[in-house]
Formats: sequence, C-alpha cells, structure tokens
Amino acid sequence: MSEVCVRVAVRIRPLLRKELLHQHQVCVRVVPSGSGQVSLGSDRLFSFDHAFGPTASQDEVYESCVQPLVESLLDGYNATVFCYGQTGSGKTYTLGGGTIKSWGTLGVLPSSFQFFSYFVIGAREMVVTSAEELLGAVEMGNALRHTGATGMNEHSSRSNVILTLQVHIRSYSNKNPSLKTVRSSKLCLVDLAGSERASKTGNTGAQFKESALINTGLLALGNVIRALSDRGRSRRGNGCSSPHVPYRDAKITRLLRDSLGGNAHTVMVACVSPSHHFIAETLNVLQFASKAR
Ligand code: ADP
Ligand code: MG
Repeated sequence: MSEVCVRVAVRIRPLLRKELLHQHQVCVRVVPSGSGQVSLGSDRLFSFDHAFGPTASQDEVYESCVQPLVESLLDGYNATVFCYGQTGSGKTYTLGGGTIKSWGTLGVLPSSFQFFSYFVIGAREMVVTSAEELLGAVEMGNALRHTGATGMNEHSSRSNVILTLQVHIRSYSNKNPSLKTVRSSKLCLVDLAGSERASKTGNTGAQFKESALINTGLLALGNVIRALSDRGRSRRGNGCSSPHVPYRDAKITRLLRDSLGGNAHTVMVACVSPSHHFIAETLNVLQFASKAR
C-alpha cells in the first residue's frame, strides 16, 4: 500500500431491467483470465489494477479497493476514493450514498462508516459550478440532514460531491495516562459529475459554461492522477524525474490537494454501463481511466 499511491479500478454494472426489456446488448466485459483487464466490443483491451464485472458485490469492491485505504487512515495517511463515469453508470451505487439506509447492500460509504466505531464528519464541501447549483447543493444538504445520506442523485450529473471524513486517533500512554498523542487523517469520498458532461459539445450559454468548467475539472483531475502515478513509477526506479503535479489547474484539484499525492492514497473507480447504447461514452471513460494509471 505504501509504495503505490494511485490505483485505478473499473466496475461494469449489470444491465438494468429496462435495458434487458429493450434488449440492450452487452458491449464491455471483464477478461476472465486477464487480471484487471476489460474488453470493449470485439477488439479493444484496457488494463486496470482491478476489474469488477456485473456480479461483483459491494463487499468485493470495498474489500479490494477501499478497505486498505481506510486502514491506512489509522497510520495517519489521507485517502481518497473517486467514482468517475457517465450518469447512470453506478457511481452513487458504488459509493453507497443511495443505499445508506438499506445496510444489506452496503457501498463504500457505509462500509467505511462501519469500520470506525468513532468517526467525525468534519465538513461537507461541494464543488458547484453556478449559483443555481449552489442553491441545489444547499437544498441537497438540507435533504441529507432530514433523510440521511440518500439524496445524492438529484444534481449528480452536474456537480461533484465531496464528502470528507476527518479522523482523529488518540492514543494514551500506560505510564502517563494523561499524555496522549493525536493523529489526524482524512478520507475523501468523491462522487464526480457525469463524465458525459465533459464531452457535451452542443450546449450553449450557461450550460456551455457549466460543461466547460466540469470539463476543466475532470481533465485537471485526470492530469493530477496521471502525474501522481507517473511519480509513483519513477520513485520505484525507472529513472524518470519526478513530474510536476498540476494541482492548481482547477478548483476540484485545489480543494483535494492534500488528499491526493504526498501523504495520501487514492483509488479511482471508473464506472461503466455494459449497454451497447453507451459504447461511445464507455470508450471515453475507459480511455480516461486507463491513462490515469
Ligand atoms: P450514477 O451515480 O453513476 O449516475 P447510479 O449509481 O445512480 O449511477 O446507478 C444507476 C442505476 O443503476 C441505479 O438504479 C442503480 O441502482 C443501478 N446500479 C448501478 N450499479 C449497480 C450494480 N453494481 N448492481 C446493481 N445495480 C446497479
Ligand atoms: Mg449518481
């Protein structure tokens, strides 16, 4: 865990009932014997640190991608989990924000909560790209207060949602019980704007500006993650010099600066729909995610 600071996973959700009814075909699959590989259509292969197919459980995803990060919080490391993908691909499902009430199908979020018998939510921050979205975020905050962390979907295609858990660990010495050491770390769970927003070109006016901002943010994030994994590789000795990490390029990367790189472990889960209807966006997402490795 300590050597590799960025990992990239892909998760292919099952076809939904309505997609089955409309006879959507599956266009993306986990390669059975290839560790971490997925195939798109008949001729494209992509490699990741982990690849989860439609039968993978929430626990499997949590245990292999997130639990090591959550454990590293106890050693004082910061950790960040991103879900990236088009709207409807399973980002919120994976984070578990939509299912926090039904503990049978835990996602990352409630599983992480369960890990700590004691946890503090330090702050809730949202990156919004317009005044309208800011109001939406406030509304969402209120809805969350009333219903638990369920309402994440409402504005999800148009905004990034960042949930930060600040963890404080106090240990007391036996010799002198009043002497305590405090270690702090934080876990960021990030439900990104729908990736299709980044590739929308037909929008005009305010929508265009919004898409352009989201585009900038997602691109900057991709560049930061890529620079970090290049840096990880060069540390492990392929002779390259440490690349510059462009945190300052966008608001989201500035906000997450101390949760990415340095003293932080990061996992990006790229979520995709299996349906051939979305093959173009799925290709974009797989390219983005495999470049980030
Ligand atoms: P996003 O947040 O990316 O827009 P959602 O998480 O809301 O997408 O998922 C879209 C739909 O697909 C939801 O109805 C969700 O329950 C379902 N879904 C997503 N991933 C899975 C999965 N792995 N297994 C079963 N259903 C899923
Ligand atoms: Mg969502």
